[in-house]
Amino acid sequence: MNMVQDKYDVIVIGGGHAGCEAAAASARLGAQTLLVTHKLETIGEMSCNPAIGGVGKGHLVREIDAMDGLMARAADRGGIQFRVLNRRKGPAVRGPRAQADRRLYKEAVQAELKLIEGLDVVAAAAADIIVDNGGVGGVLCEDGRRFIAPAVVLTTGTFLDGLIHIGEKRIPAGRHGEAPAKKLSERLYAHGFKMARLKTGTPARLDGRTINYDKCEPQPGDMPPEPFSFLTERITTPQTICHITGTTPETHQIVADNLKKSPVFSGQIDGVGPRYCPSIEDKIHRFADRGRHQIFLEPEGLDDHTVYPNGISTALPENIQEAFVRTIPGLEDVTIIRPGYAIEYDYIDPRELLPSLETKTFPGLYLAGQINGTTGYEEAAGQGLIAGLNAARKAGGGDAFVLDRAEAYIGVMIDDLVTKGVSEPYRMFTARAEYRLSLRADNADQRLTPTAIALGCVGAERRALWEEKRDALVVARDFASETNLTPNEAQKRGLPVNADGIRRSIADLLAHPDIEWAHLQAIWPEMSGWPPAIRQQIETDAQYAGYLDRQKADIAAFRRDERLRLPENMDFLSVEGMSNEVRQKLAAAQPTTLGQAARVDGITPAALTLLLHLAKRDAAPSKPRHTPEGADA
Ligand code: FAD
Repeated sequence: MNMVQDKYDVIVIGGGHAGCEAAAASARLGAQTLLVTHKLETIGEMSCNPAIGGVGKGHLVREIDAMDGLMARAADRGGIQFRVLNRRKGPAVRGPRAQADRRLYKEAVQAELKLIEGLDVVAAAAADIIVDNGGVGGVLCEDGRRFIAPAVVLTTGTFLDGLIHIGEKRIPAGRHGEAPAKKLSERLYAHGFKMARLKTGTPARLDGRTINYDKCEPQPGDMPPEPFSFLTERITTPQTICHITGTTPETHQIVADNLKKSPVFSGQIDGVGPRYCPSIEDKIHRFADRGRHQIFLEPEGLDDHTVYPNGISTALPENIQEAFVRTIPGLEDVTIIRPGYAIEYDYIDPRELLPSLETKTFPGLYLAGQINGTTGYEEAAGQGLIAGLNAARKAGGGDAFVLDRAEAYIGVMIDDLVTKGVSEPYRMFTARAEYRLSLRADNADQRLTPTAIALGCVGAERRALWEEKRDALVVARDFASETNLTPNEAQKRGLPVNADGIRRSIADLLAHPDIEWAHLQAIWPEMSGWPPAIRQQIETDAQYAGYLDRQKADIAAFRRDERLRLPENMDFLSVEGMSNEVRQKLAAAQPTTLGQAARVDGITPAALTLLLHLAKRDAAPSKPRHTPEGADA
């Protein structure tokens, strides 16, 4: 990080999870980049739960890592308990997760940013976007400083006109103890963006020294811990355990008796909250028949006695929080360090964005993270990566880079956002991906690292490691598909196969439910020399081979529709032969391809046939997807 200049290629506003990835990605592409953020010491701060990953979210982290982003490496350095969720289910839905030491994680992000050439950081509050010739010209700060750039990425998180609620108390804040971005919010409204309010919440923080862990169930992590990053060989940060407890009928009674005192139920909050991460008030109201809700007691750090009770986010008044928390086994004498709260903030309708995350109305302005209506560090970071790459490409005169739904969860998320918009905070799940058998956390590098290398955003270390792994995979896959046995030969070696005359390769044999790796390794000792990552891939390939072949046809059909581009700047409101409702839905979403139009909610088959006709009439040999030359898409 150097002396700050007046002019840059790219300016990123906000040093949260989206902003850090955006700034790092932009600078990795060689753009002179400035990160403008409120405070240097809160760069990489985890606003809420001290954990990275999970099912769906863990996939995003691996994809960010495959493109040489920061999050996975920081989680590996800050992680104090690693668990692969859904380990007993198929590889497609396994989700790596790490409990993080808040301080170590933040320090790791800041250390990574310091190493990046061409990236400056300044502490300032952005007040407005400078408009130049209808596009972006730079950023004006509240202290009067102006920074000029042709591309700006806005990643303001929960700060835009943020308002904290605790019971009847309202505190203007971006998160606990930090001022909101009020001026910038006003200016964004004035620029004409379609904006609305969302809300999220956080639980009280507890003093771990006052918890009776004897009454809780210990929850150890995986041993050995499985790292997030394809670059991390092993986790060296000391590991810890979490504990599980749960609510009781008394807890439920206290919350139910006081629901009206919660701003969520009193009508004080307008913003919609995350359905999949409900407050304890929501849980007790919506699932009144449930006798117990599980609570994970998660330490916030190795040398920090703060504990995050995951599962009881609340905005009830402080005295009610204290009363209900003390009805929970193990927490009878607990001291609350700081109360839980709900926070409302502005977001911009993501249908204002192109799939590159550039705004449709202000060329050069990109949005990423919570400002687009998402929730979660990983969702923010994934968007930040793409927005940062595209801002740098824009500044350098390049075209937009887009990941599609068949390539990455990041592609699924961005397509969902820009096509459908949001009605509640958007969070990633594996169920959102149509092609999830191929979009696995374990193969994110195979899907994305070649593309990232071709884009120019991958460092030398990752490139070398990837090339070594790629070559080893080719050798192992060839061996597994070309080495085979007749049923007779297999039976002689003790393998339980039918005498059907069919030769079976190692890959075929591995797909057999009663044949284990150890059986085959005893026959072909060279397999014992394969590194664990290669072995895991060969096993997964074998397990999924039949399904993946079928999915290939679906992906080809999907890509055919994606290549059918609709006329540029199409006026959907004036298309004849469609109902008003369909026209308006299309006009709001402004799909750029037939495939995207098909995913807009409520679009009828008849409307699609009409659009297909328009796409064909106007078309335009399909513009290639924005995958750089040489990339293995
Ligand atoms: P943030 O991490 O919020 O970062 C924004 C950054 O921008 C900050 O550094 C801020 O200082 C800076 N900034 C903002 N405006 C300006 C400006 N004008 N000028 C300069 N700098 C600026 N996620 C979940 O998945 N589950 C949850 O249960 C959950 N609960 C939450 C509860 C609370 C109370 C909060 C605050 C957040 C919660 N989150 C939760 C959300 C999670 O914290 C965010 O999704 C994630 O941090 C978003 O990342 P981001 O980069 O978009 O923004």
